Amino acid sequence: MNSFFNIDSKVAAAAEKALEAASASFARIDEIRAYNQEKVLAAFIKNSVTESHFTESTGYGYGDRGRDVLDSVLADCVGAQDSLIRHSLTCGTHTLGVALFGLLRPGDTMLCVTGTPYDTIHSVIGIKGSGMGSLKDFGVTYKQVDLLPDGTVDLECIEKALEEKVAMVYIQRSRGYSLRPSLGVEDIEKIAKIVRNKSDAVIMVDNCYGEFVERTEPVSHGADIIAGSLIKNPGGGIAKCGGYIAGRADLVEKCSYRMTTPGLGREVGPSLGQTRGLFMGLFNAPHIVGEALKTAVFAASLFEQLGYETTPHSAEKRVDIIQALKLCNSETLIAFCQGMQKGAPIDSNVCPEPWDMPGYDNQVIMSAGAFTGGSSIELSSDAPLREPFAVWMQGSLNFDSGKVGIMLAAQEIFKRGLLK
Ligand SMILES: *Cc1c(COP(=O)(O)O)cnc(C)c1O
Repeated sequence: MNSFFNIDSKVAAAAEKALEAASASFARIDEIRAYNQEKVLAAFIKNSVTESHFTESTGYGYGDRGRDVLDSVLADCVGAQDSLIRHSLTCGTHTLGVALFGLLRPGDTMLCVTGTPYDTIHSVIGIKGSGMGSLKDFGVTYKQVDLLPDGTVDLECIEKALEEKVAMVYIQRSRGYSLRPSLGVEDIEKIAKIVRNKSDAVIMVDNCYGEFVERTEPVSHGADIIAGSLIKNPGGGIAKCGGYIAGRADLVEKCSYRMTTPGLGREVGPSLGQTRGLFMGLFNAPHIVGEALKTAVFAASLFEQLGYETTPHSAEKRVDIIQALKLCNSETLIAFCQGMQKGAPIDSNVCPEPWDMPGYDNQVIMSAGAFTGGSSIELSSDAPLREPFAVWMQGSLNFDSGKVGIMLAAQEIFKRGLLK
């Protein structure tokens, strides 16, 4: 460690050991990163991306070649027949909502097989809230298969649930803010095989935080459609906003009519000068995801050295970029987030405080210091102040600065006399 930051020798020594312990995981991340980077480069070359594709379109955006080529490049990157990647999809929740409304019809049943979905999807489905025009308001029935006590998927129960007619099976790949294990593409393939045996339901995957973490994406393992956010993995830290939907061509077309409106679909939508950033972000995504993964592994490894429980463990195979650390009590969670904030490139001078976040029963503290508002491919953390006193962290555009953020978090815990 250089002398720019005042790291105590105890924390510095633990960090050194943590790095050594992480070397096998780092090597695995490098291998996958190199594979995915070649895959993405090959997709750019296959689609003959040229500078003229960056040209801005305005108004209706008819005939925007860059927009159409970008769709094709993303489809090739994720092994899909077709895709839609747009700055006008405002966030992950919006994108997932467009896909759900695009594919489901009144009278249909949506079956979520990975327990309770991510919080913000509840209002889209109609589990929460009313009068907002949720799927429920439009006559779509929601059913759910809960996870087993160990947090894994209940395959038997899924098989049973498919005895009734289901139009869509919905899978959430990443753990979100729970401690269940995230699903890898092989887990998704197991579910897809069971579904295909019994039903012609559309298999949709919320792919948030999972892109480019493995060599392949869920569409190569039986999923019909995937969706995610561009201020997470596939935006490569460069996309200023946006989302994507990819998968079977007929399903992507249906989604396009919800993304704009029936009849117009993907023919409209001006790029407003965003295309270059989306191309460049996608190009960089495998590399940036590798940096985020190394930061997550380092965080796990350091806190293991300091005696804390982590999930996933630093030596475990990764399927998303999320790292949870169990920090024992509220004081330690607060110290972690406030310490991490001190190492942010943006807003290092602010001190995050716990607050009563809408939708939560407990106070939540967060740290974020990002070039793009709310971006969670950049180093960030969230901790609800309740059992199991875990902080969920993700991101960093580069490992070297991510490492400093993690060390300053540990340093703050040390300084306040809270280390185990
Ligand atoms: C982030 C996320 C979403 C929603 O994305 P927003 O961009 O925050 O709207 C949905 N599902 C999962 C698993 C996520 O991680």
